[in-house]
Amino acid sequence: MIVVMKQKATDLMIQSVAERIESLGLKAHVIVGTERTVIAAIGEKRNGEQETLSGLDEVDKVVPILAPYKIASLETKGEPTTVRTRGLVLGGGHVGVIAGPCSVENEDQILESARAVKAAGATGLRGGAFKPRTSPYSFQGLKEEGLKLLAAARDETGLAVVTEVMTPQHVDLVGRYADVLQIGARNMQNYHLLQAVGETETPVLLKRGPSAAIDEFLLAAEYILDQGNPNVVLCERGVRTFETHTRFTLPLATIPYLRERTHLPIVIDPSHGTGIASLVPPMAAAAVAADCDGLIIEVHPDPTEALSDGAQSLTPDQFAETMARCRAVAEALGRSF
Ligand code: PEP
Ligand code: MN
Repeated sequence: MIVVMKQKATDLMIQSVAERIESLGLKAHVIVGTERTVIAAIGEKRNGEQETLSGLDEVDKVVPILAPYKIASLETKGEPTTVRTRGLVLGGGHVGVIAGPCSVENEDQILESARAVKAAGATGLRGGAFKPRTSPYSFQGLKEEGLKLLAAARDETGLAVVTEVMTPQHVDLVGRYADVLQIGARNMQNYHLLQAVGETETPVLLKRGPSAAIDEFLLAAEYILDQGNPNVVLCERGVRTFETHTRFTLPLATIPYLRERTHLPIVIDPSHGTGIASLVPPMAAAAVAADCDGLIIEVHPDPTEALSDGAQSLTPDQFAETMARCRAVAEALGRSF
């Protein structure tokens, strides 16, 4: 249920209603809006709470939340969520770009990547240190050494570091270096991991599982939000279909579809979404045209030598051209880039 407070409700009144909600065995999530404050009362439905809460003096009305995802739903929060960390801004009419290699490989590679993507206008640096690989024999990442190299690249460039965390046990470690914790597609329904990142305040980039339905994707986001971390960014990275020409199939209709249901920022990953470098620039531009809040793009100083995902990685020059193309689309639509 959403408990809509009266416009003149003071902080004290809001707190007392939140306490009342908790005393009914529900969880209270206070959402402060520009017009008024609402409190999402979340928990298993029983009888009588709606009447009890709507009878309170400070409360204007109580409305049920119809969507299965409660905090992520537009019904609960009508204003877009903007996630900011360092110079990276995702949401609220701004398109933020995260770019860098699939994996951190060595100091020169990550520094060169960071300088190049920054020069082209990116504000986030991606790079995996803990890599979820399909084969146990593939490069698994530099682990903490990779995190240190990412931090060094951030120190030099000021870019926000986006890197994957694969297990709840590593959330503290990765969180010491990352500005954004990435939850990989393979882990979208790893509920203990979702809860562990939900207990932090670090922004989370949640990737859609390749066979997850949208409701499952939003319910995965809900696991993070439910633990108190409001800084969740949704990332469409392609789904598995009968098609074998591309690595995955990238459904851009996800953007307007999610937009009608959630206030969370929506990022598109055209690199994993296609698996083919030449397809990345047009799909990135199309994603901006379809109103995404951000892009995450793989860029490598020499894709032919990459230890992972070289076939879908752009060279620094190709990335700079892609940025120019996306910027033109964003400006044509009156969005900042
Ligand atoms: C990645 O970003 O390099 C990655 C492994 O992505 P995904 O989890 O979407 O496959
Ligand atoms: Mn990759």
